[in-house]
Amino acid sequence: MTGTASGPLNGRTAVVTGATRGIGRAIAERLQAQGAQVFGTGTSPAGDLPEGCEYLPANFLDEKSMAAFAGRLAELAPDILINNAGINELSPFAEIDPESFARVQRVNVTAPMLICRAALPGMRARGWGRIVNITSIWSVVVRAGRAPYAASKHALIGLTAALSAEAAKDGVLANCVAPGFIATELTRSNMSDADIAAVSAQVPVGRLGQPEEVAALVAWLAGPENTYVTGQNILCDGGFTGV
Ligand code: NAP
Repeated sequence: MTGTASGPLNGRTAVVTGATRGIGRAIAERLQAQGAQVFGTGTSPAGDLPEGCEYLPANFLDEKSMAAFAGRLAELAPDILINNAGINELSPFAEIDPESFARVQRVNVTAPMLICRAALPGMRARGWGRIVNITSIWSVVVRAGRAPYAASKHALIGLTAALSAEAAKDGVLANCVAPGFIATELTRSNMSDADIAAVSAQVPVGRLGQPEEVAALVAWLAGPENTYVTGQNILCDGGFTGV
């Protein structure tokens, strides 16, 4: 069953890309709990989503799959769109492989552009739409080895700002949310306790963030209470970039 919860998003359809795990999964769960009918994507033919959400397969590195998903989106005409799926391929600048660079841009920038383009007509026709694109602290500050990822997330901010400038008059608000160090399964499996303690010491709040904390901000931006915030890249980083 879908969209069974009662809440401020009743009657709204939401699409969340990359909803099988991590931040996207928490966002799908939150929107569903607030009453939206949620469709979430993953790359496998059949993927696991939070209960009540409906699965759509989509691999943004596969042209046919990307085109089919954009077509499906145009039919679904979601009220709420969350471009969360993202990849990161680290490399020293002098050794960047152009194919790796292109892969990161395809998933992190080109796909959100195609997806926003497919969803926009339905939102405009209804005079209401909310788009949230997930960036990163590396869209604001940066570290060595992250040129492909940082370039993609900076580009996503520009894309979102331009979209918001065009679509706000039609009731469509578009923002970015920039998570800091978030305790996803991947983070936990890639970092030792000592690594986590070292990173936490650099965060004023003193710990990693939880996916649910990012999801709460995304849900607010995507909900009826947001009537005047658009074109922004809002940090959810425990204060990391402020110090
Ligand atoms: P994650 O756990 O790595 O999950 C990524 C999601 O994207 C999965 O659902 C995955 O599907 C999907 N995906 C991967 N490659 C794809 C492709 N080629 N086409 C379509 N979908 C694809 O992600 P996360 O760490 O929660 O991050 C989510 C977003 O937050 C990303 O945009 C990331 O850049 C950003 N972010 C994360 C952190 C963090 O600390 N985790 C910090 C800052 C920003 P499958 O399950 O099928 O692989």
